[in-house]
Amino acid sequence: MTEEQSGLSFLPLGGTGEIGMNLNLYQLDGVWLAVDCGIGFSGNDTPEAEVLMPDPVFIAERHKSLCGLVITHAHEDHLGAVAHLWPQLRCPIYATPFASAVLRRKLGEAHLLHQVKIHTIRPGGHFEVGPFNLEFVPVTHSVPEAQALILRTPHGTVVHTGDWKLDNEPVVGPVTDLERFRAIGDEGVLAMVCDSTNVFKGGPSGTEGSVRDSMAELIGSLKGRIAVTCFASNVARVESIARAARAAGREVMVVGRSLRNLEVAARECGYLADLPPFLTEQDANTVPDHRLLMMITGSQGEPRSALSRIASDVHPNISLGEGDTVIYSSRMIPGNEQAVMAVQDNLTRRGVTVLTDKDHLVHVSGHATSDDLRHLYSLVRPKISVPTHGEWRHLTTHAALARDAGAEAILLEDGDVLSLAPGRPEIVDTAPTGRLALDGGRLLPMTGGVLAARRKMLFNGMVLASFAVDDEGYVIGEPKISAPGLLEPDDPESTRISEEFADAIDEIPDELRRDDATFRDAAKTALRRALGRKLQKRPLVDVHLLRV
Ligand SMILES: [Zn+2]
Repeated sequence: MTEEQSGLSFLPLGGTGEIGMNLNLYQLDGVWLAVDCGIGFSGNDTPEAEVLMPDPVFIAERHKSLCGLVITHAHEDHLGAVAHLWPQLRCPIYATPFASAVLRRKLGEAHLLHQVKIHTIRPGGHFEVGPFNLEFVPVTHSVPEAQALILRTPHGTVVHTGDWKLDNEPVVGPVTDLERFRAIGDEGVLAMVCDSTNVFKGGPSGTEGSVRDSMAELIGSLKGRIAVTCFASNVARVESIARAARAAGREVMVVGRSLRNLEVAARECGYLADLPPFLTEQDANTVPDHRLLMMITGSQGEPRSALSRIASDVHPNISLGEGDTVIYSSRMIPGNEQAVMAVQDNLTRRGVTVLTDKDHLVHVSGHATSDDLRHLYSLVRPKISVPTHGEWRHLTTHAALARDAGAEAILLEDGDVLSLAPGRPEIVDTAPTGRLALDGGRLLPMTGGVLAARRKMLFNGMVLASFAVDDEGYVIGEPKISAPGLLEPDDPESTRISEEFADAIDEIPDELRRDDATFRDAAKTALRRALGRKLQKRPLVDVHLLRV
C-alpha cells in the first residue's frame, strides 16, 4: 500500500469483533479520510485494561496525507478516542453541532481544544474535505444528529451508514431520510458500508415513542424512590424519562459525570429545551423521596459508577433499599453481563426492585433490524456491500442479506485494505492493526511488554529479589525477597525461597559476575530455580543488583 496508489479503497481499523471501536479509513488517489474514532470497553478477556482503542499507527505514519476526520455521531465507540489519538492524527475534524459539543468537552479536558480545528456541519449538510465530496444524511439512532456519510468520488459513490435504524417515532430529531437514500440510490452507488449490530432481529425496530409511553405509565405506577439508568448520550431517552417523571410529579436529579456532561452538551444544542435544569445531588437534599427521580450512570455495571456504588451501599449521598426501584433503560453490551448482574444482585439484596427491558418496554435498540436493512438496500441498491460493526457471525448474516438484495458482499477483518475501484473489488493489502489500552493517562499497546507483564502479575504474581555485591561481585549480606500478590510477607515459603536464592547466587560462576547485565540474568535464573515447583506458578520475576 503506497501513498501514490490511485483509485478508491476502504480500510477498517477497529470495527470488527466483540469490542467495536470504529476507526475507518478511505483512500482516494493517495489522500486519506478517517471516519469515526472510538473507544471500546474491555470485557472479561482483558482484565488488565478497561478502555481500549484502535492502534492508529498505519494512519499516524501517513498523517500528512490525512485530510480530515468525520464523526458520524456522538457515541463513545465513534468519537471516544479522538482526544487520545488526535495528537497522532493532527487533522481537522468534521461533525454535527451535537457531536462537536460533546467532542469539545472531551478535547477541553485533554487540553487540546485550542489545537484542534472542528468544523461544525449541519445535519444533512454538504461539505468538501480534501478531494472528497461529502454529504451527511440524517438517520435515526440512539443519540441526536446521527448521520450517514455519503462520499462522492470520481471512482464512484460510497454510502457509509454509521449506526442507524428505522423509527417513525424517534421522539428527538428527524426520522431516517429514506427519500434522500432513494435519490442517492438513483444516482448509482458503488458501495455501502453498513451497520450489522442488530441483524439477527427481524421485524420492525421498536420505536422510541413506544418506550416513552410505557416509561410514563411505569413511573406513574411506582412508589418509593426511583432510579433510572440509561446511556447519557441517548438524549431522546433522557427526555422521555424526564417527562415521565414530571407527569408523575417527580423532580429529576442527575447523578454521575457523564450524564451531567451530556446534559450540558444537549442543552447547548437546543435539546431538552422545555425541561427545567436537572437537579444536582446537593439541590435534591430537600426534595422528599416520592417527589424525586434519579437518573444514574452505570447501566453497564462499571465498578466506579454511581449505580455500582449505590448497589454496594458506598455512595456518599444516596442509598436505596426496600420499596425502591431501579429501572435499566438500556441494553446490556455483550461482555458486560457479569458486571451488570453483580450490580443487580447487590440491589436486589438490599430489597430494591430491579426492572429491565425483560419486564417492561423500557428500551429499544438504536440499530437496524434485518427488515430495516432490507429496506435500505432496496433504496440504495449498492453494487458492493461491506458489512461492518459486528462480530463475524453478524457480518456473515448481513452479507447473506446483502447478496439477496443483489449486492456483492465482501467481509473484511480489521486491517484489510479493500480496493473498491477501479476494477473489481478486492483485498489488496493488510495494514498493521492493534489495540491500545488507556492506562491511567497513558496509551499502552495491548501486546506490549508493560501490559503483558501486568497480565502475568495478575494471574501469577510477582517475585522481586534484591541483593548487594562488592566490586568483585561477591554478595554482601542477605538477599531480600518480596512476592506481592503471591505470598504473605510472613509466609515461611518466603524464607525458604530467600535461602535457596542465596545459595543459588553463591554458585554463579565468577566470569558471569563482572558485568551487571549477565550477573542479573544469571540471578534471575537462580531465582526461578529457587521458586521451584512447589507453588506451581510461573510468576514474573525481577532482580535488583546493587554494587556497593
Ligand atoms: Zn452508535
